[in-house]
Amino acid sequence: MDLQTEAVKDLWKDVDRLGDLLHCFNCSTCLSGCPASYGDPPLLVRNLARKVLYGLEEELFEEDTPWACVSCSKCEEMCPMDVKPFELILHIRQWQSTNDETRVPPSITEIYRRGYTQAVATNDELRAELGLKPLPTINKNEEQLKLFQEMLMKTPVVAANDYMFG
Ligand code: SF4
Ligand code: SF4
Repeated sequence: MDLQTEAVKDLWKDVDRLGDLLHCFNCSTCLSGCPASYGDPPLLVRNLARKVLYGLEEELFEEDTPWACVSCSKCEEMCPMDVKPFELILHIRQWQSTNDETRVPPSITEIYRRGYTQAVATNDELRAELGLKPLPTINKNEEQLKLFQEMLMKTPVVAANDYMFG
């Protein structure tokens, strides 16, 4: 695959625009609250940042972990250097998709199955102990989950790979 495309240049241009990425000193604070860092394989934002900074295009292109991100933005709150790791992840996803429109992120089967890339809202017992209500997530509502799955099946990427969603 030829990665010397406008899209590749755009990734690096966008990363330049993110600016503070150069301030990342690999401290791992961004992982401490990241639900996807417990995944298999884990999403390690600091490693993605290194790959971008070292220009490891081929490795970065093969990375599936950015697709495990649940968009919670905790990493952005935690980062002491204002690096904006979540924005970095969005840029990497966009760059990968632009270079390969047939790419099917592995996390999409998880999204189909439970509405999220990761197990969420699994701490209702603890919440109850603290006097908090359960979180109204889609994985607890069969009707809504079914509607969501029907909607997802109508998207081109899922419809073209429907064998993955039986
Ligand atoms: S992105 Fe921020 S929190 Fe994460 S390793 Fe870099 S400096 Fe640390
Ligand atoms: S936004 Fe993504 S990378 Fe950042 S903490 Fe949440 S799941 Fe992790």
